[in-house]
Amino acid sequence: MLVLAESQAQSNSLGLYYMSRIAENLTQVRQQIDISAVKSERNKENITLLAVSKTRPASDLKDAYDNGQRDFGENYLQESLDKIEVLKSLDITWHFIGPIQSNKTKPIAENFDWVHTVDRFKIAQRLSSQRPNDLTPLNICIQVNISEEASKSGCLPLELPKLAEEISKLPNINLRGLMAIPKATKNEDEQHLAFRKMKALQLELQKRHPHLDTLSMGMSGDIDAAISEGATIVRIGTAIFGQRVKTVSSN
Ligand SMILES: *Cc1c(COP(=O)(O)O)cnc(C)c1O
Repeated sequence: MLVLAESQAQSNSLGLYYMSRIAENLTQVRQQIDISAVKSERNKENITLLAVSKTRPASDLKDAYDNGQRDFGENYLQESLDKIEVLKSLDITWHFIGPIQSNKTKPIAENFDWVHTVDRFKIAQRLSSQRPNDLTPLNICIQVNISEEASKSGCLPLELPKLAEEISKLPNINLRGLMAIPKATKNEDEQHLAFRKMKALQLELQKRHPHLDTLSMGMSGDIDAAISEGATIVRIGTAIFGQRVKTVSSN
């Protein structure tokens, strides 16, 4: 247990200040991001930590929020809507990062600020038409199947230019960049290779779409490689909230 200044911590019943496990983990992840940013000569201001809170109770998100976390990523629609309702008084930026069924786009368009997992035009079109007019345009990343795995979602790199062109014309969508979940590997060279391919795709797209500023890539096991190759959003679950035990059916 770390003992801290009052401003950083909550006090327990004994009046001692302590840091929750989540607070400690957040501090560590932020330090890891800072170190990777320095190492790769990047400005840490350009790297957003997205706390991936799937399967976690709202109280865990509140704990992270009380320790300065503002961006949260959710995968399962019903579960996320419940948490958004419970936490609606907080200043949270909500990111949808799960697979999207086309009949579930409306609540996503109404409740989220970002969607990272758009991989076909039909989904983007529905999100645009269902985005309420009193909200700012929905921020979108196109998910790329960068390791070209048959079983994975994401558009193929070859399909990207056409898809980006079509999506960028939609009125209530702000196309921000690309997202990937590369094939899981502990091999750092392979991690770098996949992320470097993503950076190259972004650079290519920026010739026609210079405002595409986002690369959503990097998870608990490959943050450092992702940052060194240009990630602007890292999506971190386990390293903040601990191992996931519960499994939730995708809904
Ligand atoms: C679960 C998940 C993460 C976080 O993974 P960890 O290994 O727990 O950090 C990131 N991105 C997506 C799309 C996820 O589903």
